[in-house]
Amino acid sequence: MSNGQARVAVVGAGMAGAACAAELRAQGADVQLFDKGRGVGGRLAQRRSGQAVFDHGAQYLSATDAAFREIVAGWMQAGCCAPWPGVVAGSGAPVAVGTPAMSAPVKEMLGALPVALRVAVSALRRAGAGWTLDLANGAAVGPFGSVVLAIPAPQAATLLKRSGLASAARDLDVVRMAPCWAGLATYERPTGRDGAIRLGSGDGLVWAARNDTKPGRGGMEAWTFHAGPEWSERWLEATAEELAPQFAALVADDLGIEFGSMTTLTLHRWRYALVTRPLGKPFHLLAEGSVGLCGDWCLGPRVEAAWLSGSALGRELPL
Ligand SMILES: Cc1cc2nc3c(=O)[nH]c(=O)nc-3n(C[C@H](O)[C@H](O)[C@H](O)COP(=O)(O)OP(=O)(O)OC[C@H]3O[C@@H](n4cnc5c(N)ncnc54)[C@H](O)[C@@H]3O)c2cc1C
Repeated sequence: MSNGQARVAVVGAGMAGAACAAELRAQGADVQLFDKGRGVGGRLAQRRSGQAVFDHGAQYLSATDAAFREIVAGWMQAGCCAPWPGVVAGSGAPVAVGTPAMSAPVKEMLGALPVALRVAVSALRRAGAGWTLDLANGAAVGPFGSVVLAIPAPQAATLLKRSGLASAARDLDVVRMAPCWAGLATYERPTGRDGAIRLGSGDGLVWAARNDTKPGRGGMEAWTFHAGPEWSERWLEATAEELAPQFAALVADDLGIEFGSMTTLTLHRWRYALVTRPLGKPFHLLAEGSVGLCGDWCLGPRVEAAWLSGSALGRELPL
């Protein structure tokens, strides 16, 4: 299908956007993705610094839904996903990681679909029965018969307000997402620890993981630390430079293990990291079904929720 009505723009090329785009492609739609990032994957993010490789967003995938379990099994067969031995989810279930990076399953799903990167969409504008996308760089693209917003709920709400859809934006008011400050560290000497350490309080350090022990990573010993939602909220507007000493002290205080001297510490702020109150349904349709919204925030704080939401919308979006 390549007529105007079946052209679909998907804004956001994270897990939800990719899952939605893959379903739409399977139905014959002409899909074009847009993402403001430098690569696809969204919060399935990885950063390299010299010999160190850090996953600084999602740390692993866990699957409880039967359909998602099947998809993860397929990714394992395709070689873009592998078990992370010795590490278990909060529920105690075994976990998997994307290989060589957390975004690998997203790339697998997208295949050859066109993705325009470093392109921020700022508003939607009616164009006949469909939509044109206004971009932050002043350009416009379209028309598209339908638009999917696969971006965090607060960002989707801002975009909808700018598009004259303020009442639709209010539908998302119920959703809450908490921030997370992530710290990426290397140490002077081997720490003698591997795998992951799960810690208690939201007002302190909640997670420490040695990235080079994940399959397919390699590189030098590299640690990712995540601060909890309360701590991250308190320091949300600090700059990474300002916060670095406090973050280093948090790690030293909360780990409860002597890790030695840090050589490098880089901080990354995730303003919309984890869903604390989801919408409670797999996706949301607006404007007579010509605009669909999906993302982890529809169902819960996990990669699995993002996949479930995106693929459900891809099946149900009226074309
Ligand atoms: C620190 C951290 C740790 C986590 N740990 C885990 C974990 O261990 N296990 C787990 O299952 N989940 C974890 N998660 C949650 C998981 O990462 C998310 O649930 C999932 O990746 C969300 O996918 P998504 O596609 O809904 O959104 P995203 O991944 O946020 O994708 C949205 C995309 O939209 C793009 N975008 C936004 N606005 C625009 C715009 N205006 N124009 C164009 N593009 C735009 C963004 O660049 C992004 O690529 C973690 C998240 C964080 C931040």
